[in-house]
Amino acid sequence: MANSDFDPLSLYLHIPFCSSKCGYCDFNSYEGLDHLVPEYTPALLSEIELWSAAAKSYALRTIFFGGGTPSLTDLEDIKEILRSVHANYQLMETVECSLEANPTELTLEHLTGLRELGINRLSMGVQSMNEEELLLLERDHSPERVLDAVADARAAGFDNINLDLMFGLPDQTLETWQQSVRTIVSLGTEHLSCYALTVEPGTALYYQVQKGFTPEPDPDMAAEQYEWTQDYLKENGYVQYEISNWSKPGKECQHNIVYWNAAPYLGIGAGAHSFFAGQRFGNTDAPNRYIEQVIETKLERDNNGRATMRQIAGGETPDRETLISDAIILGLRLLQGVNEDEFETRHGVRPSAYFAKQFSKHADNGLIELEGNSVKLSARGLLLSNEVFIDLIPDREVVS
Ligand code: SF4
Repeated sequence: MANSDFDPLSLYLHIPFCSSKCGYCDFNSYEGLDHLVPEYTPALLSEIELWSAAAKSYALRTIFFGGGTPSLTDLEDIKEILRSVHANYQLMETVECSLEANPTELTLEHLTGLRELGINRLSMGVQSMNEEELLLLERDHSPERVLDAVADARAAGFDNINLDLMFGLPDQTLETWQQSVRTIVSLGTEHLSCYALTVEPGTALYYQVQKGFTPEPDPDMAAEQYEWTQDYLKENGYVQYEISNWSKPGKECQHNIVYWNAAPYLGIGAGAHSFFAGQRFGNTDAPNRYIEQVIETKLERDNNGRATMRQIAGGETPDRETLISDAIILGLRLLQGVNEDEFETRHGVRPSAYFAKQFSKHADNGLIELEGNSVKLSARGLLLSNEVFIDLIPDREVVS
């Protein structure tokens, strides 16, 4: 069978370990669990193999090592993981293979090794190029470290690099944000992600804000920073293709586009989520529990040929309404918007008819635009997208 005969699939691999926990982070990531690393990689290898039978009619088009800090993983372990992926799955001819990295520990040697292993896209968590803001976020790299890490990544042969930045930080001014963006743009990386900070309950930053030690982010300042960013990046050759993402033409992140298109993906590793065979499910968060459960699942499969995927902590088969709602909310995140014909082919409804009341309200508000065969967020809608999305959730009453 040619690879074009297989359905496309994406693979997400979660590495939950970090050298320290950043104050704003609510991802499934942990500091101080290094002792689990020797058992974690074998668990990943087992889970990769356990899913392969279910995925045999698919071919991988993207692979994404996310975290946590995947760049902390030994090259030997990355090599084993990729070897196992190649041994157990069909792959498309061209595969985007991304890895998230923290500038702090990156060395030229490690980057060269990653490139040689087939990692062809690097995504670096920079967040800010301002010392004080990095301190507030409890990031342990300096702006100079970022410059060195990008230079080393180029020297190692990476020609597809993303840098993550955060705006809307407490006390961040328009000027300090502009300085960060200008410095980053001068590096000429192919992709930029600019996210507004959300202060998530349970994080160290949340308690700082609650206790009044740190001011709350100012949403008006965040809006000003966002609008300036849109203009500045456009002037500098970047195309915005999603609410928080910009790239040089042709360098969009193919893996994340899979999520926004509500296409299938398998998540491997502690806390990783999947959308596969019409079902959504997620693995156990705690790495030690995840390891135990994968071992149990594999033992069962080896002993009696059947495997109950014990590492899965929760799942659902979304009803039709939820699938339609998820698909429109994810699709509207893309600047190109949602094509009505394609949506109808996949989901059996035309968005402009199915969401007539919601679209009418938000077209009147100037947040969405209905043009010919497509519906998309307006420039103002990109800024206030949550106001639109909340009305697209099933069973919500739309208040005009
Ligand atoms: S490096 Fe990333 S994943 Fe790790 S704690 Fe910081 S923000 Fe979270």
